[in-house]
Amino acid sequence: MNIRVHKFGGTSVATPELRTRVIHHIKQARAEKCALVVVVSAMGRKGDPYATDTFIEWIGQNGHSLSPREQDLLLSCGEIISASTLSSLLNEEGISNTVLTGGQAGIITNNKYTDAQIVTINPARVREELEQGNVVVLAGFQGRTTEGEVTTLGRGGSDTTATALGVALEAEVVDIFTDVEGIMTADPRIVEDASPLETVTYTEICNLAFQGAKVIHPRAVELAMQTNVPIRVRSTMSDHTGTLVTNIHEKDKVAGEVGERVITGITQMANVTQIKVAAKEGEYDLQFTVFKAMAENGISVDFISINPSGIAYTVYDHVAEQARDILRSLGFEPELHRSCAKVSVVGAGIAGVPGVMSRIAEALTEKDIQILQSADSHTTIWVLVKGDDMVNAVRSLHHKFDLHKAYI
Ligand code: ADP
Ligand code: MG
Repeated sequence: MNIRVHKFGGTSVATPELRTRVIHHIKQARAEKCALVVVVSAMGRKGDPYATDTFIEWIGQNGHSLSPREQDLLLSCGEIISASTLSSLLNEEGISNTVLTGGQAGIITNNKYTDAQIVTINPARVREELEQGNVVVLAGFQGRTTEGEVTTLGRGGSDTTATALGVALEAEVVDIFTDVEGIMTADPRIVEDASPLETVTYTEICNLAFQGAKVIHPRAVELAMQTNVPIRVRSTMSDHTGTLVTNIHEKDKVAGEVGERVITGITQMANVTQIKVAAKEGEYDLQFTVFKAMAENGISVDFISINPSGIAYTVYDHVAEQARDILRSLGFEPELHRSCAKVSVVGAGIAGVPGVMSRIAEALTEKDIQILQSADSHTTIWVLVKGDDMVNAVRSLHHKFDLHKAYI
């Protein structure tokens, strides 16, 4: 059996016109004699009646006393509604199909409600349905614990459902259908002339996704990497096959003097607060005291920079007040810079290529953008800028590295 997994995101199943496109892609795969698992997200975005964001808002307004277990029961409904809607359309087309919840599909998770992780998959039921010639319409974003409790997988969870199934079924490809042409050199909502990438490696897209490119969830890519299941990120609206994600670079298609792409893309993450704590004369345990206090209070820290005169780090805006109060209670006088943004220049080829940092500095200086902090690894250079400068910073960097030229 040649098995394919198709995943359709929330915007891809939001309207009757779009759902017609979904049926079109399903028919296409059937014409190519593929057994098909179709993973769906909840329909639409915030404000749409059955969207995940709408359910989250509802819980915020009416469900204060719900335990995480009950919240997950509620949250899992969006995908079930979406899957059932699609099933009905397939019935009308005479395409035999079966709807399964994540639990019924054998997706077993830990019991970390609202952000559960898949521990194992038993795809026997899915295989059985496929062998009988049925399309399996699978509610994404959910699983069940070994005790049978319903769990959800957190943001981007349907991507994870799709690649996990792809791995378990040894699928020939996992198609992630979405509202853009593929993985692009920047978020097309910010950079108008962002170019679609024809191929990227798992590592490149993982780096992009971890740094804020929300086009695919990094956990989903990590899963696919385990068995090298190819992923294609593509548009529901077109028949182009989009971006192919594999472990192999098509060397002849990438630019750069060493035959490897230097920069893959620019990403951004908004709503972070920079916290600076100055060290007192002769004080060496500052960082230990501060980071221990953050950890004990469950505040995740990022962008850490330590030097003898003090430390600087970032937290999400929504925990900034809490972090400040903790630091004050320990006798520190922290300096907070709210609403900053982390902009990342990502590329597996950055390491050892001279001049990348100087071009970043040049691009930002040209636009009068102040760098509040910076850091680098062998695949990424991060700069922290004021939130108001974020869009300009991304655009300027994108242009400086010639990513608008569709050489890719
Ligand atoms: P879905 O509902 O299909 O899962 P998402 O909203 O999760 O869709 O992901 C698609 C969106 O990701 C696009 O509309 C785009 O704005 C955004 N995005 C961010 N960075 C990138 C990038 N580098 N390439 C493509 N899309 C990106
Ligand atoms: Mg998504």
